[in-house]
Amino acid sequence: MEKERLDPWGTTAVKDYTRLQTEFGIEPMGQLLSRFKHPSPHLSRGIDFGQRDLSRIIDAVDNNKPYAVMSGIKPTGDVHLGTKMTADDMVYFQSLSKKSMVYYAIADIEAYSDNGLTFAQTSKIALKNVADILALGLDPDRAVIYFQSEEVRVMRLATIFSRGVTNNMLKAVYGDRPIGLYIAALIQAGDILMPQFPEFGGPKPVLVPVGADQDPHIRLTRDLAAKYHSEFGFIPPSAIYHRLMLGLTGNVKMSKRSEDSLITLEDSIASASRKVLSAFTGGRDTVEEQRRLGGRPDICPIYDLYAFHFARNDEHVMTVRHECLEGIRLCGECKQEANGLVKGFLEEHRRRRDAMMEDAKELIAKSRDYLGGRGK
Ligand code: SF4
Repeated sequence: MEKERLDPWGTTAVKDYTRLQTEFGIEPMGQLLSRFKHPSPHLSRGIDFGQRDLSRIIDAVDNNKPYAVMSGIKPTGDVHLGTKMTADDMVYFQSLSKKSMVYYAIADIEAYSDNGLTFAQTSKIALKNVADILALGLDPDRAVIYFQSEEVRVMRLATIFSRGVTNNMLKAVYGDRPIGLYIAALIQAGDILMPQFPEFGGPKPVLVPVGADQDPHIRLTRDLAAKYHSEFGFIPPSAIYHRLMLGLTGNVKMSKRSEDSLITLEDSIASASRKVLSAFTGGRDTVEEQRRLGGRPDICPIYDLYAFHFARNDEHVMTVRHECLEGIRLCGECKQEANGLVKGFLEEHRRRRDAMMEDAKELIAKSRDYLGGRGK
């Protein structure tokens, strides 16, 4: 059987999440789930399916110790429902303790290497991305945001790490890629480990919430943390992995590389509706067949809209799943309901996001002062 391939820069959907445990060592959530007093919808619905060293973060929460949540975004366009997943996890883990601190990297170097955008372009896009994250619930009082291209510490770490890896090692993790992407990967390792610098309180647990396809970055960074432990005292970063949302075309993950596959937080209501109503589904060829055999929610991007984002609560997800599997629900009515939920969310989110534009500017400026005042 061919191995699952995890490509952080690709569009391939994961076929079998349980194989990621045997093939890459991602651990299941297991008993750790019971340690969350108020699990997020991603946790309670099994969307966060795997982890590495998550217990370090839960221990920090339980013992009121500092920890960091590290995430970022490649500023190449509007936030979409796939990237919202990571933002939701970041906001949730920030909310678990007043001792948490979010570090949020604007990956403008990666956008330059991978997408050919100029730094002027990415700076403009990033402002709106930051406003989106604030509208999704990020607490700006415990968050610093920075542009990779401006953060000398991250660059310095990437340079140091470049001595510790060979071309063959990077090839084994990522496959044969342009050198710019290898460099971007080392910079990202720098992003993840920077919160452990002395000026930010020294070594501490750091959680990276990611989609399953980003695991190569986590593996590389954990190896580098171990390799440079004696020099910097790094603790290998923890990770929590979410399932990848199916793109609306059904055969790929939701990704900016496939425009028809995604709904962005900036889509007009008409455009979002068109995409939802014309999406691929896990339905059968005829109504009669669907009533008899039931639908297939596990290959259905409309089901993902409910489960990953828009269901009112866990019972609602279970109802949709049950009605789909039993042939009680047909795809047309299911899409109409999902469409109403998407519309309601987009309207409300945009109101909140527009009100956050000034706060986003302030947070970026405040973060520059904070980082600049810490030995940059
Ligand atoms: Fe998907 Fe809904 Fe159709 Fe089931 S009934 S296959 S969840 S669209």
